[in-house]
Amino acid sequence: MAGTEVDGPAEAAPEAILRRQSLRESAARTYARALPIVPVRARGLTIEGADGRRYLDCLSGAGTLALGHNHPVVLEAVRGVLDSGAPLHVLDLATPVKDAFTTELFANLPPALAAHARIQFCGPAGTDAVEAALTLVRAATGRSGLLAFTGAYHGMTAGALAASGGAREGRVTRLPFPQDRHCPFGVGGPEGAALAAHWTESLLDDPKSGIPRPAGMILEAVQGEGGVLPAPDDWLRRMRAITEARDIPLIADEVQTGVGRTGTFWGVDHAGVVPDVMVLSKAIGGSLPLAVVVYHSDLDVWQPGAHAGTFRGNQLAMAAGTATLAYVRQNRLAERAAALGARMLAALHGLAAAHPCVAEVRGRGLMIGIEFTDPDDPDTPGNGAAPALAAAVRQECLDRGLIVELGGRHSAVVRLLPPLTLTDEQATAVLDRLADAVAAAERARHRRLTPRNPQ
Ligand code: PMP
Repeated sequence: MAGTEVDGPAEAAPEAILRRQSLRESAARTYARALPIVPVRARGLTIEGADGRRYLDCLSGAGTLALGHNHPVVLEAVRGVLDSGAPLHVLDLATPVKDAFTTELFANLPPALAAHARIQFCGPAGTDAVEAALTLVRAATGRSGLLAFTGAYHGMTAGALAASGGAREGRVTRLPFPQDRHCPFGVGGPEGAALAAHWTESLLDDPKSGIPRPAGMILEAVQGEGGVLPAPDDWLRRMRAITEARDIPLIADEVQTGVGRTGTFWGVDHAGVVPDVMVLSKAIGGSLPLAVVVYHSDLDVWQPGAHAGTFRGNQLAMAAGTATLAYVRQNRLAERAAALGARMLAALHGLAAAHPCVAEVRGRGLMIGIEFTDPDDPDTPGNGAAPALAAAVRQECLDRGLIVELGGRHSAVVRLLPPLTLTDEQATAVLDRLADAVAAAERARHRRLTPRNPQ
């Protein structure tokens, strides 16, 4: 078939590898389109491409690498399992490696949940753990509907997709997620968040709202893919109070916010909220695939096999995850993320003040977003979001050896998810390159929109 042939021995040059990728891999591929890099080595914040170029990686495997690439404690843990002769694949059987992982994870849970926690090991993607959480609360409540939020992202399997903001079908009631710049009530701030909570409460209590009693509410403490939108603490506490009073299990999707990322060990810790169910993946596997659901034992009424999957026993991931969780705890990396994140946000506010194209800077800990706007560009969507400018900034960043990610409703938010081990000097280098990239993208946009005078 034309276009997929590979003749002779494969050429190892990076351009050849990228060319073969574009010929052979799916049209649905994502990061690979914006990041034509062939990584061959990586350590900490740095990735080295096959062409010898080095990049500061603020994508971190979509927020997976709490300790950056190839952290020594992770490598040691993985080597330990390999050298021990332990089986690498054991379905959901008990092993010392899994036992240690569960002990370390429970030691880091909110204590009120840890005291009654059960754990379900899932297939190794966040989306599978979301499915498990939905099955769990449906079995426990005997109800089927779900409360979820505008802008949410929970994964790509059927139930998780239905719970996400882009869904077009499913048994999901969509509730407003509070935010300032694009507040659904047009007011933002604490008032907008209070209105969002009031809307939720009135829907649940109105016998004619058309919404049957739901099996659960699922939320992110900071919406990541939605564009880095931190939930206000008061609003989160109200969601806890509203669900508790109505006997609705609260599911916190901590797939991206977990393990110190937002400046506390879990995103819900900022508000002191204890959910009934927590969905965990990404960083808990220490850069290898792992996903679990932890939940209050009262909910543990589902049947054997109610959620299953072949790859629930990845021993290397559990060992890497145990090492990562312990390292984050022992070295207080959540606190470090809070302090460094605050410093970076302050610097980015300075950037926003200098560049009118920066509409908003927001985040929590080392989960940071910069939203771009372009009022003069006729192609911007109705709310002033500027995806083309954000994409230009991402490209300018790449040209300067900085890898960032885009997110948000219109892909107009540049996202930073650096490792929690980021040093002050590295943070400064990231901010310098970013500031330079924003200035370059703005200059290019200006040139594009300002027609030259014919001479
Ligand atoms: N929930 C959240 C909050 C996420 O950010 C993601 C992934 N970005 C998922 C679920 C899905 O995880 P996975 O891609 O591993 O299925």
